[in-house]
Amino acid sequence: MSMKEAGTKPDMTRERTGKGSLLVISGYSGVGKGTVIAALMKEHPEYVFSVSATTRAPRPGEVDGREYFFLSKETFASWLSEDRFLEHTTYLDRSYGTPRDYVESRRNEGRHVILDIEVEGALNVKKACPEAKLIYIIPPDAASLVQRLTGRGTETEEQIRGRLQRAVDETAVIPSYDYVVVNRIVQDTANEIHLLATGESGSRLPKEEGLSLAGQIRDDLREYLKKYDEHAIISRNVSQDKENSMIHPSYSELMTKINNGGDEKDPVVKSRYSIVMGTAKRARQMVDNGYMEQEDHARKPLSIAVEELDEGRIRILSNQEYQQMLAEKAAEKAAKTAEEPAEEAAPAETVPEQTEEVAEAEQPAEEQDA
Ligand code: 5GP
Repeated sequence: MSMKEAGTKPDMTRERTGKGSLLVISGYSGVGKGTVIAALMKEHPEYVFSVSATTRAPRPGEVDGREYFFLSKETFASWLSEDRFLEHTTYLDRSYGTPRDYVESRRNEGRHVILDIEVEGALNVKKACPEAKLIYIIPPDAASLVQRLTGRGTETEEQIRGRLQRAVDETAVIPSYDYVVVNRIVQDTANEIHLLATGESGSRLPKEEGLSLAGQIRDDLREYLKKYDEHAIISRNVSQDKENSMIHPSYSELMTKINNGGDEKDPVVKSRYSIVMGTAKRARQMVDNGYMEQEDHARKPLSIAVEELDEGRIRILSNQEYQQMLAEKAAEKAAKTAEEPAEEAAPAETVPEQTEEVAEAEQPAEEQDA
């Protein structure tokens, strides 16, 4: 499209004129891009964030003109007809676009402009502006992405599912990026991006390894989505034909049951995804420890895990219980290593940030009987 190319000609004179560089940062939705960019800008005032326009509604805490320009569909269309976007796209039924004037004027002032845009937009920018550096941020693994997306509690399950599916699809485009960066510790990720942006060092993770990790995450997410969909279908069948179905309650019913009588303000389980995660973990545990070899193969490990949870044979621990369990384990360990002073028994760092955990130690009754 000529609109996208206009105003984004390759800038070969950047060094001589002192024009700022252009950094395109993409990543799976929920990977923590925003936090990384904020850390980068806090440390280095020479960066500016290009505020995009969107037709999606603001999330709690988002401010018009800071995270986005929140536009109506009509206003977005009129900006488009006035050629005010450097690039634009549709993402999950919402429009997003990079305002051209802002990017160009800041670069002309010598500032480095950061674009936080999805892959299609990134590739359009690269085409028009080959000196732009394209960086793709991935999580350390699939589970942390799912946890982050469900944990922020701002999207419906359907939207979360859409974002995970989009992550799976997007993986195919990552090879077109210049660098792949794994977001483990925000400050480290920000520093790595700064070094890449300034050309002070190459990527910490060779691109091939980054792509291979991204492929693994994509496979795990596919597996997760398959299990989620399988259960959605099973749940539908159960409600349509309770008599003929072998399967257990829905995740919503389980959630109510698990939280029943608990603290409403601080429930054990905050979303159905926590149960999906917990039962998927338990299912994998059953496969790993050979339990399925003794089981009736008509039943899937996930179905058994859900049934176990329903019957109280396994349990999801509240955050408090989980922390207590870790502290007890640490205390036991410390007691064994005799001379160590008692206060070193449970260092604060041993408590992870996760909020729920399936009790790993519990075994299904059948196993105990066997
Ligand atoms: P979110 O709704 O989560 O803030 O953003 C959804 C996706 O839209 C993210 O992948 C984000 O990077 C992308 N995005 C945000 N602004 C723009 C933009 O101006 N252009 C394009 N192409 N993508 C954008």
